[in-house]
Amino acid sequence: MDANDDGNRRIVLAARPRGEPNADSFRLEHGPIPEPNEDELVARTIYLSLDPYMRGRMNDAPSYAAAVEIGEVMTGGTVGQVIASKLDGFEIGDFVLAQGGWQDYATLGAGEARRLDPSVAPIGSALGVLGMPGLTAWSGLREIGRPEPGETLVLAAASGAVGALVGQIAKLRGCRVVGLAGSADKRAYLLDELGFDAALDYRAPDFAATLEAACPEGIDIYWENVGGPLFEAVLPLLNTFARVPVCGLIHWYNATSLPKVTDPTPALMRAILVKRLTLRGFIVFDHADLQDEFVTEIGAWLREGKIRYREDVRDGLENAPDAFAGLLRGENFGKLLIRVSDDPTVGG
Ligand code: NDP
Repeated sequence: MDANDDGNRRIVLAARPRGEPNADSFRLEHGPIPEPNEDELVARTIYLSLDPYMRGRMNDAPSYAAAVEIGEVMTGGTVGQVIASKLDGFEIGDFVLAQGGWQDYATLGAGEARRLDPSVAPIGSALGVLGMPGLTAWSGLREIGRPEPGETLVLAAASGAVGALVGQIAKLRGCRVVGLAGSADKRAYLLDELGFDAALDYRAPDFAATLEAACPEGIDIYWENVGGPLFEAVLPLLNTFARVPVCGLIHWYNATSLPKVTDPTPALMRAILVKRLTLRGFIVFDHADLQDEFVTEIGAWLREGKIRYREDVRDGLENAPDAFAGLLRGENFGKLLIRVSDDPTVGG
């Protein structure tokens, strides 16, 4: 897997998908390996992070971040190694975290790359447990979920990059944690390896009843990763003063329009008032100021073995489109990464 063989391969947005992204949504292009200008560096991509938010960037609807333009390289977090540098503070061989995109080589300017120390943590973890998904979990719980010992927290996509950390932090804070996941092996992982108190199949016909049975004292925190029909089962179980950090709505990311249902607003608003609920959306960059504190706390828990994480690593940039479509169908098991080129920090 030598990224030099084909120059710079770039996966660009070819067409805006309607529904699931497919082969027509992306195009693989070839170009020369870039040279840095003054105040730039060029990094060879080692890992590319695939994340649910990328589906939103493929639409041109207004959102909290700009859409990827047709013909533009798909956006994405990367860990790479500097191959050429005219940027102060960066030398050939340095490992860097950046928003390098779906390509073999990224050109990065001042403020666009952060150096990583491979002796502190595996470099890929800067895209997962110690990176954007980790900060999402840690900061959203701290600022919105505010778990207290003895409380019950429920979350879906519980084996994923964000969910696995949310659940483990809540356990460390003394909560009862009920995780929802789409396959038996994911649910076994939640129970046996992460120590959750219950793991449920949200697609089971009797899901609402099993959720109620798993939450005998109601739900104090519902970490919303998904949206869709799950919330209907959750809402009646929410306790007075429950908190709902609205982190993601992956159930609808491929939807071309929101489903036409009987207006749920009156029942929801009534529940918010009567139970004094807090529902608060957030985007990870709202909490960028907490980055250092996050790395200190989660880094310590990782070193002490109190936190575990799982990565789902696929080889080859060319496989990113399929892997990404699979992420939106629940085919990943853990933080989804593409190994674009060899990781020199691993093995011999
Ligand atoms: P994951 O690693 O958890 O992967 C996505 C998982 O979502 C799938 O594996 C699948 O798990 C589950 N899923 C997919 N479709 C559905 C569905 N229709 N109903 C229920 N579950 C579904 O991804 P992340 O941890 O990276 O992201 C989790 C959520 O957090 C996403 O909604 C994402 O957009 C959001 N997020 C928000 C951020 C913010 O700043 N607000 C930042 C980062 C992430 P399963 O097989 O168990 O169903």
